[in-house]
Amino acid sequence: MANFKIRKAVDPHVLLLDVVRSARVSPNVMRVTLGGEGLSRFTPLGFDQWFRLFLPRPGQDALKLPTRTSGLWYAQYLATAKPKRPFVRNYTVRSHRPGELDVDFIVHLEEDGSCGPATSFALNAAAGDQVGLLDQGIGYNPRHDHAWTLLVADETGLPAVAGICESLPDDAQGVAVVEIPADEDRQDFRIPAGVRILWVPRGDKGGVPGELALAALRELSFPDGPVYAYLVGESALVTGGRRHLVTDRAVPKTNVDFIGYWRHGHAAM
Ligand SMILES: Cc1cc2nc3c(=O)[nH]c(=O)nc-3n(C[C@H](O)[C@H](O)[C@H](O)COP(=O)(O)OP(=O)(O)OC[C@H]3O[C@@H](n4cnc5c(N)ncnc54)[C@H](O)[C@@H]3O)c2cc1C
Repeated sequence: MANFKIRKAVDPHVLLLDVVRSARVSPNVMRVTLGGEGLSRFTPLGFDQWFRLFLPRPGQDALKLPTRTSGLWYAQYLATAKPKRPFVRNYTVRSHRPGELDVDFIVHLEEDGSCGPATSFALNAAAGDQVGLLDQGIGYNPRHDHAWTLLVADETGLPAVAGICESLPDDAQGVAVVEIPADEDRQDFRIPAGVRILWVPRGDKGGVPGELALAALRELSFPDGPVYAYLVGESALVTGGRRHLVTDRAVPKTNVDFIGYWRHGHAAM
């Protein structure tokens, strides 16, 4: 579920990268740092640059990565026998330094302690593990005049919000509403003076991620002038948020972009 116009990646090849290190940076976030030769072909674009992440299946001693570029990788992937296909998940560049790229993984566990392959990878990542990365470009892409920016996200969109705030010009105006599992999951990053961040910790309240961010959006008093709104996170958050903006706040559809990052109760591909 999405409405956005992507700003394309520079190099549409799958890059082979190595895990350099990993660390738990807050109660619910594992940061995995990737590096290796392949990273020299990666062009950092800032904002919410995202990518397909290819992860080995249990029992695979080597990653079988697609060699085709751009959208053609998927046909090649489907033509690969299922037991040999890597897992594929979507992630955001949290930060990039020469030779290193950080990825923040939200750790989400089912009640029985099980988790999806990307979360399992992040929890167990060790130096030397190999992954594939296919750059997808940037989702944040205002295409109409606006006086201020509205960002709405659950915790999976925190890397996107951080990257966008770090990339916005100094004189940008705006509000970012970010739901996080716990207050300790807040992060520090450069925010333009005119952009306010509203942290919405779930704490013991529980519920599906995104519900509290949507409630906070409904209560938000808006600055004057036209807005560009960008919503990312759980599917009901982004579709409900867009509906609220268009129906209740009379924001033109053209000024709202959204990407459903994940769907409660459904594994990614
Ligand atoms: C463009 C884009 C950028 C993204 N960037 C990031 C990022 O930087 N960091 C990040 O952590 N995520 C990010 N996501 C979301 C991430 O891809 C999904 O959460 C993904 O499903 C996690 O894969 P998994 O293998 O752990 O779980 P899956 O195998 O996909 O799912 C297993 C179960 O877990 C549930 N689930 C999935 N994600 C969550 C969650 N966050 N909280 C609670 N339950 C969940 C599913 O509904 C399913 O029931 C991004 C998604 C997109 C589309």
